[in-house]
Amino acid sequence: MDADYDTMDEAVHTVFSHFDSPQQEVLIKPNLLGGFPTEQHVTTHPSLVKALVVYCEGENLDITVGDNPAGRGNLMGKAKRTGLYQASQGHFKDISDGEKISVESDYFSELVVSKKVLYTDYVLNVPKFKTHIQTIITGAIKNMFGMLPGEEKSTIHCKARSLKDFSRALVDIYRVRPPDLTVMGAVIGMEGNGPSSGKLRQIGKVIASDNGVELDAVMAHMMGLDPHNIPMLEYAHEKGLGEISIEDIDIRGELIEVKGFKVPSKTLVRFVTPLSSGYYNFLAIRPRLNRKKCVQCWECVEKCPVSALHRNEYPHIERNKCVSCFCCVEVCEHHAMEVPSRARDLFDRFFLQGVT
Ligand code: SF4
Ligand code: SF4
Repeated sequence: MDADYDTMDEAVHTVFSHFDSPQQEVLIKPNLLGGFPTEQHVTTHPSLVKALVVYCEGENLDITVGDNPAGRGNLMGKAKRTGLYQASQGHFKDISDGEKISVESDYFSELVVSKKVLYTDYVLNVPKFKTHIQTIITGAIKNMFGMLPGEEKSTIHCKARSLKDFSRALVDIYRVRPPDLTVMGAVIGMEGNGPSSGKLRQIGKVIASDNGVELDAVMAHMMGLDPHNIPMLEYAHEKGLGEISIEDIDIRGELIEVKGFKVPSKTLVRFVTPLSSGYYNFLAIRPRLNRKKCVQCWECVEKCPVSALHRNEYPHIERNKCVSCFCCVEVCEHHAMEVPSRARDLFDRFFLQGVT
């Protein structure tokens, strides 16, 4: 439906006129990737979360608002910077307390999952309309990656290193606890090299579905992508989690395509794996540090799943160890870790060897 940040209450009431409301308790799970200021539109917009909280308060529900961000520490500080803490009206909680469970997957047999996600009656997933340099899109499925607390997320990057494997691992995690309802903020979306370093695009929509896979397929279509070409969606469909052909999805409201929407370059979406050929490895670009923006917070060093980043005067990338997962780019709240163009990457490789 059409929406803007001033009419979120209206949008939320329209959503619940089409879908069942929670009955007793609800976990509102926004995208809290990190402590990015509201105006950067990296995280779920507070006005949508506030409207959902107000609606749930009106239904006398037991409400929790929470997520497990990518970076380490200072959860409340991050939530405050995004405006999500304030939007929660006192319901924001730390949901990092986890429990080990058995999981059916080619990549792991056990996972530590946030207890709040496992045991809350109703999970209300609130992602953003964005691209993702690793998985092409990030929406309902990828937002549920946040059910894994802290370090558990990093281990997945080590276990599933290609686009196909990582996409499948994300779907296996989503299958642990698919959300009861997904309400996606798409008033302002992100194109290009999301989820934190892309460009903003006005879209003017809120999109809702009780099937997150189908919602992601609609988002992909709106981005001008064929959902069947997104490994995450193709695998989710294969697992029986939802339809991904637009003609098979029951869509109410106008389906638009955002003209000229930019998605991450296919040649950039390339992970390095132990089986990567030399050619493949050569093509994979590595992140680049912009020292002028770096505040030496070391969040990227902590987050790197293969310990390819080290503390020097500034973070130093060990090129041969780096698997091009771009977690360091994603987690850097100062946008100091960048995704270089191929030309820039080649220049760095041959002329600045050894320089951070
Ligand atoms: S690159 Fe970003 S995350 Fe890493 S130390 Fe610098 S500011 Fe912190
Ligand atoms: S340096 Fe960055 S891109 Fe390379 S493996 Fe570490 S987190 Fe991933």
